[in-house]
Amino acid sequence: MTLTPDIRLTPSFAPAPISIDLLQSVLEELYAQYRSLQSGKIADYIPELAKMNPDWFSICVTTVDGQQFGVGDREQQFTIQSISKVFVHGLALEDHGRDRVLAKVGVEPTGDAFNAIVLDEQSKRPYNPMVNAGAIATTSLIKGNGATDRLNRMLTMFQRYIGHEPYIDMPTFMSERTTGHRNRAMAHLMLNFGMIDEKIDEALDLYFQQCSLLVDCRDLATMAATLANRGKNPLTGVQAVPACYVRDILSVMYTCGMYNFAGEWAYKVGLPAKSGVSGGIIVVVPDRLGIAVFSPLLDARGNSARGVRVCEELSQRFGLHLFECVMPGSPFGKDAIS
Ligand code: GLU
Repeated sequence: MTLTPDIRLTPSFAPAPISIDLLQSVLEELYAQYRSLQSGKIADYIPELAKMNPDWFSICVTTVDGQQFGVGDREQQFTIQSISKVFVHGLALEDHGRDRVLAKVGVEPTGDAFNAIVLDEQSKRPYNPMVNAGAIATTSLIKGNGATDRLNRMLTMFQRYIGHEPYIDMPTFMSERTTGHRNRAMAHLMLNFGMIDEKIDEALDLYFQQCSLLVDCRDLATMAATLANRGKNPLTGVQAVPACYVRDILSVMYTCGMYNFAGEWAYKVGLPAKSGVSGGIIVVVPDRLGIAVFSPLLDARGNSARGVRVCEELSQRFGLHLFECVMPGSPFGKDAIS
């Protein structure tokens, strides 16, 4: 048998460098361009979300070497909601390892709604840690000596990512807890199949608390940059999650992070991401940067309408798609980007 003598790796899939000089001006341009986009709807299943201002809009970037860029309402706080699922998945991996987490929660994307009351027929596992059932199962895995200890461990984990003290928004937590009947139904279904342990009220409270964590857009960019930086917070140097689990976290984000838009997102934007019902999106550009967009107007799939557009543009303009092929003479070649 003859082997092919020479497998050419060019045009290459190696990432093109990003022009830092260009970045701030592109963020400003995209902010100005999409500010007028008024399509979408604010989540209104609880009053705390319904009262968000539809005009809030911010785009932030943190690089793996700790530079920060941003535009718009960077300091506006909001609750993290489903984006928390990414980081709690990381803590569950840290607490139990890959195999045990995988035994309890699958990694398959699902075409069902994020809050569907459904488990995999064969394994009785929830489909993945990014849908509510899977997130409740991962949250139930968080170790601790009682509810307070588990909450403290979770808050300490979030602090490693954001680099300052984390706070829970109590009104949101109380509303989530009072109205979270579907989530309760999922927890009972999983308990019925022995997929979570009996302390379901404790697990559900912890889940509602993680969704109610207060962040701003800069925090989210730093959280994304921490994942881009193999788990080490680029602003503080603190290892937020063991580097070996970043691969698992990003894989699930890539395939399941954007509700029922995950496939089209992977195709068009080509980066691991997660969005939440309050209008945040985090995007990880491995080894390079974290991007966050916040705008509460949601499209029909539940993703921030402006956020999706901004991320599509950023990916395209900077050639960030993970499978981008850098052709000689392409706009992503060395001539265009310093
Ligand atoms: N707290 C929400 C829930 O559990 C999270 C929704 C979301 O951001 O997708 O329903």
